[in-house]
Amino acid sequence: MVSASTTPIDQFQVTLSDVEELKTDNCSLRKPQAVIVHYTAGGDKSSQDWLTTGPVSANYLVKGDATIAQIVPDGKRAWHSGRASWRGFPDLNSVSLGVEITGYGYKGPHVPEDVDLSQCVVIPGSDHSWFPFPEEQFQSVSKLLLDFRDRWKIKPPLFVGHSDVAPGRKVDPGPLFPWERLHKEFGIGAWPDLEKDLQHIEMPSAEKELKWTQLRLRDYGYDCPLTGVLEGGTTSAIQAFQMHFRPKLIDGKSDAETRLILAHLVDQYHYED
Ligand SMILES: [Zn+2]
Repeated sequence: MVSASTTPIDQFQVTLSDVEELKTDNCSLRKPQAVIVHYTAGGDKSSQDWLTTGPVSANYLVKGDATIAQIVPDGKRAWHSGRASWRGFPDLNSVSLGVEITGYGYKGPHVPEDVDLSQCVVIPGSDHSWFPFPEEQFQSVSKLLLDFRDRWKIKPPLFVGHSDVAPGRKVDPGPLFPWERLHKEFGIGAWPDLEKDLQHIEMPSAEKELKWTQLRLRDYGYDCPLTGVLEGGTTSAIQAFQMHFRPKLIDGKSDAETRLILAHLVDQYHYED
């Protein structure tokens, strides 16, 4: 098994003997530009083992008791997002900080028998019954993300979930991760202000609704097909969007409320940079 944090430093040195070595201070490790939030689908012990002995890793783990562990330094590339894309970044591990949260996600065969399932919540449009995030753990995640926002100047739409960057392949951190509270209580990440007038975006006519949804999802950052019809890839992208921004119904359909939220998000955040 390989651990990202113990990769021998020699790997980063040229092996040719006839290369002159000059010095400069004008260099650095990478600068994180995005934050990807995950849950581990396991308990503390198994999550920690999995993230330290591989074949994956993350920059941070927020444990079930709300304590925070750093696994890979911010300046190094952890292995957490897999095949993923967001806002045109082709290799998200290289530009993001990965934050794993200990938790099972949803009720299923991966959950040990002694775990209390009574708290799980059924979300309309989802096949699963989801575990809420304990308040103390959420407070620790918020504290960590606030530190990233201030230290690395991470822009609101670049705080995302694994499901946002890998729709159809990943569902973490799931529809109960409190993105709205993160924005409203801590000023972290993006959230639509539906009271504002739209400046740049027009709502579509009835016959163009689906193509419009696909285009606007792509504008916002999602890897969504541009087919004009509702096939698997588009359903997955809409569902990922709903898990983040309209978690009361995550059926993957482009309804009027979903389109309105999407229009406001694109209007507020797409034209900034
Ligand atoms: Zn994940």
